[in-house]
Amino acid sequence: MKIELHCHLDGSLNLAFVDEMLRAQGMQYEREELQKRLEAPAECGSLTEYLERFDLPLLCLQTKEGLVRAAYELVRDVSAEGVKYIEVRFAPMLSTNRGLTCEEVIACVVEGLKKGEKEFGVFAQAIVCAMRHHSLEQNMAMLYHARKFVGKGVCALDLAGDESAFPTRQFRELFAKAKEWGIPFTIHSGECGSVENVREALELGAKRLGHGIALEKSAELRKMCQEKQIGIEMCPTSNLQTKAVKDLKQYPLQQFLDEGLLVSIHTDNRTVSGTTLQKEQSYFGEEVIRQCTLNAIETAFTTEEIKNELRGHL
Ligand SMILES: [Zn+2]
Repeated sequence: MKIELHCHLDGSLNLAFVDEMLRAQGMQYEREELQKRLEAPAECGSLTEYLERFDLPLLCLQTKEGLVRAAYELVRDVSAEGVKYIEVRFAPMLSTNRGLTCEEVIACVVEGLKKGEKEFGVFAQAIVCAMRHHSLEQNMAMLYHARKFVGKGVCALDLAGDESAFPTRQFRELFAKAKEWGIPFTIHSGECGSVENVREALELGAKRLGHGIALEKSAELRKMCQEKQIGIEMCPTSNLQTKAVKDLKQYPLQQFLDEGLLVSIHTDNRTVSGTTLQKEQSYFGEEVIRQCTLNAIETAFTTEEIKNELRGHL
């Protein structure tokens, strides 16, 4: 039984789906070429280069049909590897390039997730991502629309994008608003070295951190995470590709676990990173996987009732 808490919709579209959606727009690629354009190389130059792999997927997420199907097929795909609970994240504003409203985009993703949930018996919820390269106003407007779906398919807010170019402090107001509205949040933090972004996220009240690799540089912040029971969503393959870590021997997951941090293992982007949750877990031993699964349940943005049901699967 697996729990997926950190999975981006646009980075996790299956090849057949992307191929079909692009063909409908008059774009045709050989399978190999398509794969090359979607999958980041094992050694990516930087996070920025990694983020380029999202250009084609976003073209597939500009229509109602594309959004519903993408969400539905993701639930189908993860159910095949034993995932029983998934939080799928996506940035609604990135799907409004061809006229869909932010509200329509969210409604479609939620519809696809619900459809998948029913059909495949996987609890599926959405996390809406604010984007670092969008203005505070744009992100506030997105949150305003997302608010209507909270508790009805949307479970939380996230902040994604280029962390080195746009520090978290620029979005203080956004998270203050989320807090005011009772919307929990996770924040991509410390993926590329910035301890300051981790500190900021914790001060803002993030319940979880995306990646959190930079925590290895600060015993003080690790202690804070342990005391506040903060979830640390770690994604090994993605972290290697973006050079957040040099190699797996230096991956701080075990250290974090030993210090009592609520670490869990996730994929980030199934297609862009060419991975599955099975593969991410395979880097670790049975005990670590079990503890990480328990931590994922503990820190999931869901009810105690569902958490208990998930624990029952273990
Ligand atoms: Zn991510």
